[in-house]
Amino acid sequence: MKLTWLLVPLLLVNIVAAEDDENELPLAEPCDVEACKLPNCRCSSTAIPGGLRPRDTPQFVLVTFDDGVNILNIETYRSSLYGRTNANGCPAGATFYVSHEYTNYQLVNELYSNGFEIGLHSITHRTPQTFWAQADYSTLKKEFADQRVLMSHFANIPLDAIQGIRMPFLQLAGNASFQVLQSAGMTYDASWPTISFINPGLWPYTLDHASIQDCQLPPCPTASIEGVWVLPMISWRDLQNNPCAMADACFAPPPLDDEDAWFEFISTNFERHYFNNRAPFGFYVHEWYVRTFPGVYKALVRFLDTINNVPDVFMVNSAEVINWVKNPIPVNEYREQPCRQNQPSPCIPNNCGPLSSTHTEQQFWMGICNTCPNRYPWIENPLGL
Ligand SMILES: [Zn+2]
Repeated sequence: MKLTWLLVPLLLVNIVAAEDDENELPLAEPCDVEACKLPNCRCSSTAIPGGLRPRDTPQFVLVTFDDGVNILNIETYRSSLYGRTNANGCPAGATFYVSHEYTNYQLVNELYSNGFEIGLHSITHRTPQTFWAQADYSTLKKEFADQRVLMSHFANIPLDAIQGIRMPFLQLAGNASFQVLQSAGMTYDASWPTISFINPGLWPYTLDHASIQDCQLPPCPTASIEGVWVLPMISWRDLQNNPCAMADACFAPPPLDDEDAWFEFISTNFERHYFNNRAPFGFYVHEWYVRTFPGVYKALVRFLDTINNVPDVFMVNSAEVINWVKNPIPVNEYREQPCRQNQPSPCIPNNCGPLSSTHTEQQFWMGICNTCPNRYPWIENPLGL
């Protein structure tokens, strides 16, 4: 009796796993706002969540950095981000989409323990870009679901704290990456640029139903993938009005040594959000760009100093935006809420190496908060056994 009870759910799990093959997924239907309601479903739309007026809507600012975290870039993060507070006194946030190679997990732990969000950016970050366009579910499961375990283990941070991903090169893989998010119990993707919904901007939405978002780097998802959130990357406009998904990818930016022009540039792009539907504003960038061009660095710091004093602007972790969209409340209420609880996680530092690797002749050193692996962790062997 008990045995059959156990067997039936197991069988169901197997069927569901088999259906993860994307060919068998149900095609997404057009979204019906009556059927798709918060907190777990939202149609793709520029409408402000909760039907709020723009002036009652918190303006979220998302600062994100991609790729490995190590001694080359941690100083920029420390000097530009640590100790910041929003105008309501709560700690400011930022999100790091971390790839594995050359990452020092002691420093990932440090970022997490300082209240910042850790997201995933794949284990291999391999080239060419077409690899990602063609990657299937099982490939992306190894790149992301396994990376989540790797990250949690070596940085000693809770698995549940890791809720978002960004695809390398912002290259989507159709339904596959979103299926991985769903099966791993993660919340959102932050890889999908839009140039059609800049002004007003596209708010985050779920993939229960068909998306209206323009597909800049196909393939984009076509299936109904319930409960998985898209955090659209609303493009900036450069000085010639070209869209750019990341600040360091603009074709015609201001002179890179001109702090004032860059401050103006960031502010102009910000105001397009703030003075319209207040869709989250992103400063999406790679650290090398900010480090290489001090004018850009100073302009960014000045911009953050400015918005950190504006009562209805909040620099937050990306996951916090999804949480707000699920349960939208007016800015007056939001600013009185208890601050995000920061729970520092201990790190007993261990520097491991030289470690042999399976993907290159090269040997690696690896800073971690755990016992040393036997070899350099990689795809197929995320714990380096
Ligand atoms: Zn990258």
